[in-house]
Amino acid sequence: MTERQQPESPASGFPVPGAPVPGTLGPLEVSARFTATFGQEPDGVWTAPGRVNLIGEHTDYNEGFVLPFAINRTAAVAVTLRGDSTARLLSSYGDQAVVTVDLSTLSHDTMQGWTAYPLGVVWVLRQMGVAIGGFDLFLHSTVPTGAGLSSSAAIECAVASAFNDLSGAGLTANELVLVGQRAENEVVGAPTGILDQSASLLSTEGHAVFLDCRTQESKLVPLDLAAEDLLVLVVDTKVTHAHATGGYAARRASCELGAEVLGVHALRDVAEADLPEAAGLLDPETFRRVRHIVTEDQRVLDTVAVLAGAGPSAIGTLLTASHASMRDDFEISCPELDLAVDTALANGALGARMTGGGFGGSAIALVPAAEEAKVRDGVVRAFAKAGFAAPDIFAVSPAEGARRVL
Ligand code: ADP
Ligand code: MG
Repeated sequence: MTERQQPESPASGFPVPGAPVPGTLGPLEVSARFTATFGQEPDGVWTAPGRVNLIGEHTDYNEGFVLPFAINRTAAVAVTLRGDSTARLLSSYGDQAVVTVDLSTLSHDTMQGWTAYPLGVVWVLRQMGVAIGGFDLFLHSTVPTGAGLSSSAAIECAVASAFNDLSGAGLTANELVLVGQRAENEVVGAPTGILDQSASLLSTEGHAVFLDCRTQESKLVPLDLAAEDLLVLVVDTKVTHAHATGGYAARRASCELGAEVLGVHALRDVAEADLPEAAGLLDPETFRRVRHIVTEDQRVLDTVAVLAGAGPSAIGTLLTASHASMRDDFEISCPELDLAVDTALANGALGARMTGGGFGGSAIALVPAAEEAKVRDGVVRAFAKAGFAAPDIFAVSPAEGARRVL
């Protein structure tokens, strides 16, 4: 386990997990920062949110179900088309300098560092035949990076929305989801599914997005936490484990093996009732991996049903059961995440789970507003007592998806 690294110097490109989140700027302020940088007003400003996955972990690549919601932390981009083939890009993050790229030479070599996200989207759109020439772009994001809240998809979706509007391409939100995913897969090189971009583009305020990763069909599910005096607290443990990438690949491989031995196309096709039989066909470790996916898919469906019935205050046990399954069966938790979950529950949270790929990153806790201070204090104290780095704790609420704001 290692603590996330401190910001790199501007010269080294970008990135910086764990650094403080810059303050929110309104559309006019983003526009003013653009103008101060590039000497003219932007053609418009677009925002797209990060996301929290409420439940449904590692089910996406098993063609199963997920239930993310967009959060009230966004990437905002101000963009102007230039009329030549030069792209100039600046992020407000840290101490970045303007990056200048000749679009006629756009290739995987010239899409490096943080600009791989916006330029990757431009590259994919151009591959699809959308005519995009030179542009100036200013990015300001309040989504913490590398905390499992998908700061990368927020950038992709804001940029995709901007160029969709500016080019008149008229792509649907579902098509933009795939543009963002292709940028992430083919340019950045991260083998991610459609979860993050779907949450960022398809959400509306007070709702979660129930997504079927096989059919890519989605449905908005009411998640009005404020109406029930509830909030979701994110506990960013600020740790990444050295084996996170290898662990992710190994879990995918176990799932593929499980599906192959059980003779199904994907673990989505295995029901809970099939598990006793599966236990006899699989080695113990693969069986536990399979059991997580199968029960997690069911928990997503159950969560959607409970939200439609008793409402959000009744989903806590499903969240906590999801965590236990990831800890014991899928084995992707870590001491920091377990401590965050256990301490939140002991201090009044209705449910809690790690969220994201695992081996570090963030946990979420569903908390009655009256218990917020107690949960925060409890977690901070428990981390100090255990000798862990101080976590970052903040509330998020289900927010509006990507849109033009100026
Ligand atoms: P996550 O999406 O979980 O936050 P990723 O590793 O997928 O983590 O994406 C983080 C990367 O996105 C950063 O390393 C950086 O390249 C880019 N990024 C995120 N926020 C910003 C920002 N405000 N400015 C520039 N680049 C950013
Ligand atoms: Mg990401």
